[in-house]
Amino acid sequence: MVLPAAPLHFFRADAQEIRAGAPEISIRNPAGVPDILGISWTSHDYVNHLFGPESRQSQDQTVRLDRIFAELFDYLDKRIGLQNVLITLSADHGFMNVPEYSASRNLDAGRIDPDKMIEATNSALSAKFGDGRYITAWWNPNLYVDYKLIEARKLNKVEVENVAQDFLRDYPGVEAVYTRTQMEQGMMPNTKLAKQVILAWHQKISGDIVIMNKPNWYLFGKPNTYASTHGSPWSYDTNVPLAMYGPNWIKAGKYGDSEVVDLARTIAFILNVRPPNGCEGRVLSEALNRILPKPDGSKCRPSSDCACSARQSPSQGARFSGVTSIAIIDASPCGQMTFLVNEWNRLFTDAGFGNWFADRCKEAGVPGRAHGLRKAGATIAAENGATTRQLMAVFGWDSIKLAENYTRAADQKRLAESGMHLLAVEEQNGT
Ligand SMILES: [Zn+2]
Repeated sequence: MVLPAAPLHFFRADAQEIRAGAPEISIRNPAGVPDILGISWTSHDYVNHLFGPESRQSQDQTVRLDRIFAELFDYLDKRIGLQNVLITLSADHGFMNVPEYSASRNLDAGRIDPDKMIEATNSALSAKFGDGRYITAWWNPNLYVDYKLIEARKLNKVEVENVAQDFLRDYPGVEAVYTRTQMEQGMMPNTKLAKQVILAWHQKISGDIVIMNKPNWYLFGKPNTYASTHGSPWSYDTNVPLAMYGPNWIKAGKYGDSEVVDLARTIAFILNVRPPNGCEGRVLSEALNRILPKPDGSKCRPSSDCACSARQSPSQGARFSGVTSIAIIDASPCGQMTFLVNEWNRLFTDAGFGNWFADRCKEAGVPGRAHGLRKAGATIAAENGATTRQLMAVFGWDSIKLAENYTRAADQKRLAESGMHLLAVEEQNGT
């Protein structure tokens, strides 16, 4: 099996080329290393399609891939130093077991033949609306409807879709069926499965009737092209590894509730760049170190007195601080009330939030604490005419005394301002 090694050779060639590359690349990248490099280890897909994930061939391939990774990481360590590298590893899908293997374990499993399914659906539609080839094609997992034929025969498009849907719901191996009209008009059921279908469906390029196979049922092109396949909403397909390594950025640990789409958003966050358009993931802030790497690779907690943040302009510091706050808001649960959560996904204590906020102020190179913000807010509100009761409600104070400090100070300021002209008149009179 030579396939898994191929990407490693490409990677080495790529790194080599950059090192010996054009002068402008060398100037901008004196270390001669790629900034971001994506490698697809596609052999895993081929082997599992051909033999299935429970096969000896798949196990053999996985062991070999593991050795290739060891070789790659060793190469990176010698070339760049692993402390300077952020590595992420994930997959675009998992794999179902070979249906015959599942059936041998007494699971409901089998293979769907799309051509036979089209034929049977057309027979059902012909019986209702007159002879015709209403379904013209199949591409996983969509059926394509001939809407021109429906129009020419002055049939109701929704009625035709519904008859096809009713028929297919009872077809062997089919779990659920959704129509174009349902998806375009927001008439999908409120289920996880329907939400997954919507995420995978595109109005312009997807088909008109979407079929979701039952777990362990094969649905892909011709039924016997491959031993196994993927592309379903079931956990054997969607539950994939999501690993990150990079001691300068990633906090060691095992974390739950993450999705592959979170990777792009997290990398964008680490690089301090805008996430890709259409990015639906969140920043995996629970897995990120709060310690930033210095340019020389050593670690430090950023503050106004450390060398690395001294090199940042205040605006850069403020931007970093802003992004961090958004990450915390993103990670916080939303319901009737919204609370800020800490890096362990628990509610902040008063003191904990105060300390966190003070750290962010230091990073941004500005003086201040969260308490200072409350004081400033209360002062502004009182000067704008807020009553003691209003201040108590806004800031959650039980005691009227605290609120009166602000209203009294604001009253005094207002009275002094309105009385100043009296002083001026007296001066004019020479007294
Ligand atoms: Zn594949």
